[in-house]
Amino acid sequence: MINFDYVKISSPKSAIDALNKDAASMFIAGGTNLVDLMKRGIETPQKLIDITNLPLKQIEEADGIIRIGALALNSTVAEDETIMKKLPLLSMALKAGASPQLRNMATTGGNMMQRTRCTYFYDTTMPCNKRQPGTGCGALKGYNRMHAIFGTSENCIAVHPSDMCVALVALDAKVVISNRSSDRRIHFGDFHRLPGTTPDKDNNLLRGELITSVEIPVNDALAKNSLYIKVRDRASYAFALVSVAAALDMDGNTIKDARLAMGGVAHKPWRLTSAENFLKGKTASEENFKMAAFVAMKGAKGYGQNNFKLKMAPNTIVETLKTVSGLS
Ligand code: SF4
Repeated sequence: MINFDYVKISSPKSAIDALNKDAASMFIAGGTNLVDLMKRGIETPQKLIDITNLPLKQIEEADGIIRIGALALNSTVAEDETIMKKLPLLSMALKAGASPQLRNMATTGGNMMQRTRCTYFYDTTMPCNKRQPGTGCGALKGYNRMHAIFGTSENCIAVHPSDMCVALVALDAKVVISNRSSDRRIHFGDFHRLPGTTPDKDNNLLRGELITSVEIPVNDALAKNSLYIKVRDRASYAFALVSVAAALDMDGNTIKDARLAMGGVAHKPWRLTSAENFLKGKTASEENFKMAAFVAMKGAKGYGQNNFKLKMAPNTIVETLKTVSGLS
């Protein structure tokens, strides 16, 4: 690990100013990913700007929107009464992530900014276009059991590791971002990027910007039937092989509205819009859920060791929909 300077900042404006002043600086909050990246020489900031004192820890509801501050801890959000009642999908996804110790340190904004856990990305002796553009992708023909089946490119097949983000994309969240002069909002589905020809860029946050909060519309009908299922190698503290976030607005046995997203399958949390559209107005039945899964899997591609996801993903979609609709 290289030497670095450290400052602790207490207002969003001074944090943004400090970041803009020094091109080799980075924000740090919980540090649950960044410190690992620094230890391995993947991130080499010369200055860390500690933002944990910024007043961005609120969880508040107004005008049908729940606003979660970027520094609200994953454990706090997961156990918050309003979140458990009105956004149970988010609470379930957070509780499926990492370990209790990590959730006690990790923040909402940091969770969004975490980087892939591709083994080649963390091994500086191996080629990796994400870590060092132009060096190649070790995973394409190597160890790729955990890797993506959707939205890949010949440059990178890594997955985004977050559970929280899968729930947030299904819930139509928006990311609120501040820069030196204004605020802007990005739909959650547009925040993370696909690898394309620039796999080194994980998201659309610009240099000099600070995530201040996430806004999520309240939808009581969807909240009634919400479920996050995560398939993984062990019962806790493991990244998803495949996960599914589902929420259904049901009128008897008819699906009025549906939200579906998957984790562990793409470079970004993967919203299943075609399957959602297919389900609207349909009855809750195993046949319809299998068809929704078939629709969702259009364009999926395996890379060898991860071919099992081509079966696991649709099976998990069907099981999640059966459970959340009360069919099983
Ligand atoms: Fe690097 Fe992406 Fe290839 Fe992994 S999948 S080695 S992160 S370029």
